[in-house]
Amino acid sequence: MQSLFVRDLAQVVSPAGRAAPLRGAALRSVDVLEDAYVLCRDGRIAEVGRMREVHQLGDDVIEIDGRGQVAIPGLVDCHTHACFGGDRVSEFDLRAGGATYEELHAAGGGILSTVRATRAAGEPRLREAVSRHRGWMLAHGTTTFEAKSGYGLDCETELAQLRAIAAAGAVPTWLGAHAVAPEFASADEYLDFMLAEVLPEVAALAEAADIFLERGAFDAEQARRYLEACRARGLALRLHADQFTEAGGVPLAVELGARSVDHLEATGENGVRALAASDVTAVLLPVAALVLARPQPPARALVDAGAAVALATDFNPGSAFCESLPIVCALACTQLRLTPAEALAACTVNAAHVLGRAKRLGRIAPGFAADLVLLGAPDWRYLAYHLGGDVVSSVLKDGQVAWARTPAAA
Ligand SMILES: [Zn+2]
Repeated sequence: MQSLFVRDLAQVVSPAGRAAPLRGAALRSVDVLEDAYVLCRDGRIAEVGRMREVHQLGDDVIEIDGRGQVAIPGLVDCHTHACFGGDRVSEFDLRAGGATYEELHAAGGGILSTVRATRAAGEPRLREAVSRHRGWMLAHGTTTFEAKSGYGLDCETELAQLRAIAAAGAVPTWLGAHAVAPEFASADEYLDFMLAEVLPEVAALAEAADIFLERGAFDAEQARRYLEACRARGLALRLHADQFTEAGGVPLAVELGARSVDHLEATGENGVRALAASDVTAVLLPVAALVLARPQPPARALVDAGAAVALATDFNPGSAFCESLPIVCALACTQLRLTPAEALAACTVNAAHVLGRAKRLGRIAPGFAADLVLLGAPDWRYLAYHLGGDVVSSVLKDGQVAWARTPAAA
């Protein structure tokens, strides 16, 4: 396999050390190498160093001119709902015009409208949708993403979603408990069906299971039943919790040893302390809070207390139609009071940890996957600083140019 030599980079930037997840002061520790290169071989990073130390390279090496650019690790989006049919643009319009929740519901909006569209789409169109969304994410520097099912709420569509997600090369999570399917009279009856009929099929397709623990969706007792059954089938555990109310998701996540608990907009001091003392990563989703005009999660308190924190887009057709982790980083630094270094670690090494991939993703270091983002900027902090700007100039995945803003950059 060919080698790729990215030369004359203004900076090569990576979260420091080898530990994962990073917490506390370590979350702020970034290695910055100036006037540097990255050599990739067989899809992996072979060397990182300064240009003045470059040795003789073989004839089979393809060179990329990195002048005027900086390299950061490929971004990892550890929480998306990228597999869905239809859109919610009409609902967006109504909401922008001040419609109430009841009016939106009467107009056929909300999650169940996406369930109807996803069921109607069929697997080939779902595959097209995930592939299209993967392309959008790549153009914003995302080289690895997780995607959840949860818009089928029946056996056939949930499995079709998970297959479509895997076919796009994404990390599949079964969100079988996103909402109660309209065919069922109660949440318990619905969970009985999901655990008996769907979980046995899902276990071979998904890496993790997720649940929406919230008033009006599933309560802590139902979440325990669902998550314990999923864990017994070998799935890692994740939870949507404390988005609107504290409903027991954090203590449950800690007790069950979940990989992550996600959202946390409503989490108070006890929840912050419990997470800081645990191995559960707090996944923060600032776009959803922004779009829904909700308070942001207590990011600063979580980091200061020593919790492991990751950032993600929550890309979905309703509350976060945004695939850009650079925008998430900008929100993290302006609304969540994180520093650019904390934001970078939160959507690289810590996000990779949530997906069980921190040994090979999230850093620019020998042996790691050659997934790099080149920013057309003099300083890596433009990632968060240039809000909404075209900051990504090209993206390498497994040592190949996977996306470039202009042909010249490739
Ligand atoms: Zn979500």
